[in-house]
Amino acid sequence: MKLESYWLDTAPAFTGAAQGPVAGRADVVVVGGGFTGLSAALALARTGASVVLLEAGRVAGEASGRNGGQCNTGLFHDYADLSQRLGEENARAFYHAYDAAVDTVETLVREEAIDCDFRRCGKLKVAAKPEHYAKLERIHRQLQASVDPTIELVPPERMQDEIGSASFHGGLLQRAGAQMHMGKFGVGLANAAVRAGAKVYESAAVSAIDRQAGGFRLTCERGTIEAGQVFLATGNSSRGPFAHFRRRLVSVGSFIIVTEALDKDVLDRLVPTRRNYVTTKNIGNYFRVTPDHRLLFGGRARFALSNPKSDAKSGHILAATMAEVFPQLADTRVDYCWGGLVDMTADRLPRAGEHEGMFYSLGYSGHGVQMSVHMGQLMADIMAGKAEQNPWRDLAWPAIPGYFGKAWFLPLVGAYYKLQDKLH
Ligand SMILES: Cc1cc2nc3c(=O)[nH]c(=O)nc-3n(C[C@H](O)[C@H](O)[C@H](O)COP(=O)(O)OP(=O)(O)OC[C@H]3O[C@@H](n4cnc5c(N)ncnc54)[C@H](O)[C@@H]3O)c2cc1C
Repeated sequence: MKLESYWLDTAPAFTGAAQGPVAGRADVVVVGGGFTGLSAALALARTGASVVLLEAGRVAGEASGRNGGQCNTGLFHDYADLSQRLGEENARAFYHAYDAAVDTVETLVREEAIDCDFRRCGKLKVAAKPEHYAKLERIHRQLQASVDPTIELVPPERMQDEIGSASFHGGLLQRAGAQMHMGKFGVGLANAAVRAGAKVYESAAVSAIDRQAGGFRLTCERGTIEAGQVFLATGNSSRGPFAHFRRRLVSVGSFIIVTEALDKDVLDRLVPTRRNYVTTKNIGNYFRVTPDHRLLFGGRARFALSNPKSDAKSGHILAATMAEVFPQLADTRVDYCWGGLVDMTADRLPRAGEHEGMFYSLGYSGHGVQMSVHMGQLMADIMAGKAEQNPWRDLAWPAIPGYFGKAWFLPLVGAYYKLQDKLH
């Protein structure tokens, strides 16, 4: 079993990285080479700006290359709760922002001819307990009436058409959800940014950003560079001068295993419609089939951070859960196991805007594949002064009280949600 991301291990190498020291001046310096930063670098370079991207490790090497591979439409929040807290108009706009974000990904894949197995497969949320189906029915009624007439309910008696598992009791289907190979997409996006004129540096962790006349000076492992504008696309970075954001983003580990390739007839029995699947539990699971016919099975598994020992521990829990869901896979070999860090905000809504003259887009809270790419594209306009393009512009973002980057409360939150899953 390899303790590394299947997406990164099976992606082509990115050969377009800029070589030599980082120096000179650029109109915009983008910090972070995940989907947010790469997408922004492409959009900004397309406007004719000179763009330099500084990535601490390799492009798409963190959350963007380590995720569950789902690129889903619609909000994942409780729509009723969100409407009550933020107003129906905002909730509807946020819901549609996720739909638009998947369109953005599809458009980029087409325009830049990115070979990444993008397909609109649909997302099926599956009821993990019989009583969860009543909740899905309520959600279905409400979403259909308010925001998404295309959403469908799959009643328990029709579930065998969708999934060969006795663990689920009905589902909610959003047909426009998509999936793709995250590593191939990341490298494709990086190549597109380079083709558009951006310089992408890897192994260039930024350690300081200073204001100066006419903009900023950034210091990184490979030198210093001046910038007219700075865009921070650093996810839940633990390195660099980002204390302000560390007080607002909580890093939560999520873990994934990928099996050996499975026979077509096995997959036809277990997941005949090859959708993206998520379960209704608070500490639930997500799964899908990879382009080369493996089952990818992920989940929170434990409330822990990601490191090789922790990933392996979580991998065992995930393999046991996968065998409960699909007993036919009890003896299936697991080829990959890894973890990654999700950048959670307190309300699980992203944040984007300007802080101390620097722009940022962060906090996708585990649902950022589509939104990171979308926000990257919007940033070029937002940084040119069109703040109204920013769907998240009106959200306040106070620091989390008593939190300075070390999430002492995570075990308590984990225990609370575990109990909720037992009780409800
Ligand atoms: C295990 C897991 C499963 C997930 N599953 C899904 C899913 O199925 N669907 C979905 O929609 N979302 C999912 N997500 C979330 C999604 O992957 C992220 O929201 C998205 O990739 C965020 O992209 P990003 O570019 O903002 O951040 P990242 O991809 O984390 O990129 C940030 C980059 O900034 C770099 N950086 C940090 N500090 C510095 C510095 N000082 N100098 C230079 N560079 C720096 C990092 O090295 C990193 O490459 C998942 C996340 C995880 C961890």
